[in-house]
Amino acid sequence: MRTRIVLRSPFGDTVTRDIADGCWADPIGDADLTLGEGYWAVPGLVDAHSHLATRDLPAPKGGYQPGVLGEAVERAKDALAAGVTLLLDKGWCDKTVIDLIGVVPETERPEIEAAALMVAVNEGYYPDFALEIDTDLIESVVAEQAAIGAGWVKLIGDWPRRGRGPVANFTEDQLRQAVRVASESGSRVAIHTQAREVPSMAVAAGIHSIEHGLFLTDSDVTVLAERTGMWVPTLLRIEETIAQLGDGSSGGRLLIEGLDNARRLLPVAFEAGVRVLAGTDLVGTPANVADEAIKLGEYGLSNGQVVEAVTTAGFSATGRSPDFATGSPADAVLFPEDPITNLEVLNHPAVVIRKGAVV
Ligand SMILES: [Zn+2]
Repeated sequence: MRTRIVLRSPFGDTVTRDIADGCWADPIGDADLTLGEGYWAVPGLVDAHSHLATRDLPAPKGGYQPGVLGEAVERAKDALAAGVTLLLDKGWCDKTVIDLIGVVPETERPEIEAAALMVAVNEGYYPDFALEIDTDLIESVVAEQAAIGAGWVKLIGDWPRRGRGPVANFTEDQLRQAVRVASESGSRVAIHTQAREVPSMAVAAGIHSIEHGLFLTDSDVTVLAERTGMWVPTLLRIEETIAQLGDGSSGGRLLIEGLDNARRLLPVAFEAGVRVLAGTDLVGTPANVADEAIKLGEYGLSNGQVVEAVTTAGFSATGRSPDFATGSPADAVLFPEDPITNLEVLNHPAVVIRKGAVV
C-alpha cells in the first residue's frame, strides 16, 4: 500500500511526500491512502534535555541511582505518543538509555541521541552519582564516554560548594580538550552550568550545547550564534528548583537573577541564530515538552519562535532535515490547528508518524 501525505508546515511551505522504506520519497503515481490534508505538520517535537533513565532527580545526598530500563522504555514510548520524535538524553549515572536504544525498535520510540555517564569532579555534583574524575584525565574520560554514548558527552560544569555558591569543575582549557576529543569521534558536548562565569568559558571552549546557562552574556550569544550552538535553558526545571530552595535562599536568589538575565537574553539569542531548544529535565516527563516550549514563550519568544524551538530547531541543530527532505526519516506530527496561532495545540497532536508508521 502506497501512503501519501500532505505536509503543511506552520512556517509556510506545503510539500507532498510518499513514504518508502520508512523515509520520505517524491510522490509517484496514485496513492492508496492520503493523510494530512487540513492539518499542520512538523517533523516532530524535540525534547532537547531529557533523562529517560528514571522519573526522579538524583537524591539530594547523592548516591548511585541506577536507571530502570522498564520505566525508561515506558517513558520513551509515552514521549513518542505525545509527538516527540527526537530526544536528546543528557546522561545519567549509568548507561540505561544507551541500552534502551539497542532494545526498543525505532518505530516504538523517538530517535534518541544520548550521553552515557555524566562527567564531574569530586564534590562537583550530587555525591557519588556522576563520574568523579581527576581533571588531568579529561581527554581519556571524554574519549571513553564518547565511545559508549550515542552522540553526546555530558559535563557538569559547576556545582555549589558550601558557602561559596557554584564553583567551576573544569578550566576553560580542559573544556576545550573535551570538545576536541569528543569531536574527533563525532560526538557533541553538553555542559550543565548554573554559575556566573562558566557559560562564557564553555562558549569560548566550543561546547556544543549549554544546559541551563542562565548567565550567558550578550557576547557569548554572538559567539554561540556564529557556530549555531545550542542553548537549552530548561526554565520549568529552574523555576521548580527555586521553589524547592526557597526564593530567599542564596541559591534561589542566584537562580532568580539568572532567570531575569534569561528573560532578556532568550529573544536576543534566538534572533542572533542560537538554537534555543526546549528541554524537560525531569519536570514531568519528556511527553510534557510542549509545556516547556510554552514557558519559553512566557520568557519572551514569539509564538513562531516557540514552535521552532520545540520542533525544527532541534532537527537543524543535530544535522537532520527540518522540512521533510526526501530520503530523511518519515517522521511527522500533525496538528488540527496551526500551533503558531494556538500553542496549546502542541500538547494535542492528532497523528504521530514515526519512520513511516502511524503511532
Ligand atoms: Zn538534566
